[in-house]
Amino acid sequence: MEAVRSTAEGVIAVNGKDARAFGTEAAEAPLQQLTIKRRNPTPYDVEIEILFCGVCHSDLHTARNEWHGTVYPCVPGHEIVGRIVSVGGHVSKFKVGDLAGVGCMVDSCRECDYCQEGLEQYCEVGNIGTYNSPDKHLGIRTYGGYSESVVVDEAFVLHIPENLDLAATAPLLCAGITTYSPLKHWNVGPGQKVGVVGLGGLGHMAVKLAKAMGAEVIVFTTSESKFEDARRLGADDVVLSKDPEQMKKYTGKLHFLLDAVSAQHDINLYLSLLRVDGTLALVGAPELPLPVAAFSLIPYRRSLAGSMIGGIAETQEMLDFCGKHGITSDIEMINIQQINEAYERLLKGDVKYRFVIDMASLKK
Ligand code: NAP
Ligand code: ZN
Ligand code: ZN
Repeated sequence: MEAVRSTAEGVIAVNGKDARAFGTEAAEAPLQQLTIKRRNPTPYDVEIEILFCGVCHSDLHTARNEWHGTVYPCVPGHEIVGRIVSVGGHVSKFKVGDLAGVGCMVDSCRECDYCQEGLEQYCEVGNIGTYNSPDKHLGIRTYGGYSESVVVDEAFVLHIPENLDLAATAPLLCAGITTYSPLKHWNVGPGQKVGVVGLGGLGHMAVKLAKAMGAEVIVFTTSESKFEDARRLGADDVVLSKDPEQMKKYTGKLHFLLDAVSAQHDINLYLSLLRVDGTLALVGAPELPLPVAAFSLIPYRRSLAGSMIGGIAETQEMLDFCGKHGITSDIEMINIQQINEAYERLLKGDVKYRFVIDMASLKK
């Protein structure tokens, strides 16, 4: 069958081949080995041998259907790094042997105002997620990076700086861009006090990036055991958020707060830390709504905002920024067979600070 370029106009069937992967058949079921289909590369596609894939808390939310809308089988994973093993005839950005990265999106309409502005994550038609999205090529769902390979249109593939440790670079593809984008959007920089709430995968990247952007960084954590690490990662101060006395020190003092907490928590507590015109941006996406008191916002003209990953050009900008500043993630490498245990540890906030799967383990 002739392969054709992906368009927003609907399903275009192309041939595919089997690939080994790890995923789940139901919200309550553990992840296990599965066989999925990957399309044969179209002229605009690259085929990537996946070497490492980070484990984002969104993988867990989706695998367990906490955001309602997971279609099974589900193969998570959107912090993908690997090597290009084949390229279509019209591919111009990559050649066989290049390092490559794929983040949370593999396509979008490419025509709406947002796509034209490089904000593909907010595509009016809806971006195509790396997993659990409709797959217009094979007519099934997209399957993520817990797999031996992936085929992606080169327009959604990133160049990886050669000077960074490859496994520790994988988390930049989601945790990195999800924190870089709001820090840039709200102009974080020198002279500003910036708070980071929740020292997990996203939070620890936010600390490194905000520090590299020149801000004074304060970490708010529920885990006393992370105090030393927070300072090592670059924080100027660390606050135990459960202790009202420690929290008081920053009432009305912060210019910007990035909230990267994955579970229910009281955001009114954090809003009270903002100065006049300060913003709290949510990147953490708990399953249930977070109540907000009007008087947490009104007295200081505070803003409550949200931010979703980042566009492709901005993701490349972030990777280049990390290459220049030598920034990667602090990782704990696991084999794919340890993924269910890793999810349980994520739920306990017990990760320092990102699990990364060595995809060679899939072949064991
Ligand atoms: P993670 O590594 O599990 O980190 C979450 C952190 O939140 C924990 O380490 C913990 O930090 C804190 N925490 C957990 N449970 C808590 C509770 N009950 N109360 C207070 N704090 C708690 O997760 P992640 O991968 O960084 O992801 C964080 C959130 O961002 C998830 O909801 C994920 O789905 C979302 N996300 C959003 C986007 C986006 O585009 N907006 C992209 C990626 C991920 P401490 O121990 O320091 O308290
Ligand atoms: Zn993610
Ligand atoms: Zn669009």
